[in-house]
Amino acid sequence: MIIRCPHCRSQNRVRSERFNDEPTCGHCSKALLAGVPVAMTDENFAEVLAASQRPVVADFWAAWCGPCRGFAPVFAQAAARHPEWLFVKVDTDANPQLSQQLSIRSIPTLAAFCDGKVVERVSGALQAVQFEQWLASAFR
Ligand SMILES: [Zn+2]
Repeated sequence: MIIRCPHCRSQNRVRSERFNDEPTCGHCSKALLAGVPVAMTDENFAEVLAASQRPVVADFWAAWCGPCRGFAPVFAQAAARHPEWLFVKVDTDANPQLSQQLSIRSIPTLAAFCDGKVVERVSGALQAVQFEQWLASAFR
C-alpha cells in the first residue's frame, strides 16, 4: 500500500506484511507510522485497517472546517503520547468513498477501530482531557 510520509510528504510503498515492523520513510528516514498522525485515503484505508496490529484512531476532517482545525493539535498531541495506537487522518473532501461507507455526516468525526471494526465513534471536536477519556473508554 502507499503511505504518504507525515514528515516530508513523499509516497512510500509499504507491504502489508511489513506494516507492523516500524517502517521508515525511504526519503527522510523518519518513522512512517508512529508519533504523528498519518494521512490515509480511500485507496489505502481498508488495507491499513486490515494490516495494523495496533488499534486505529481516525480523525475525519476537512480543511474548511474550523472545529477540525482547532482539534488537530489535540489529535497530534495524543498521537505523540500514545505510540500503542495508530493515529490516522482522513480528509473527507478528498476521500468521499470512505466518508460514505462510514456514514460520516458531520466533522470532525472520530472513530476508534479494533481488529478492523469500529468500536467507538463521536462527532464534534473534543478537548484534550475529553479526548483522553474517550480513547481510554474506546480501547479499555
Ligand atoms: Zn519522509
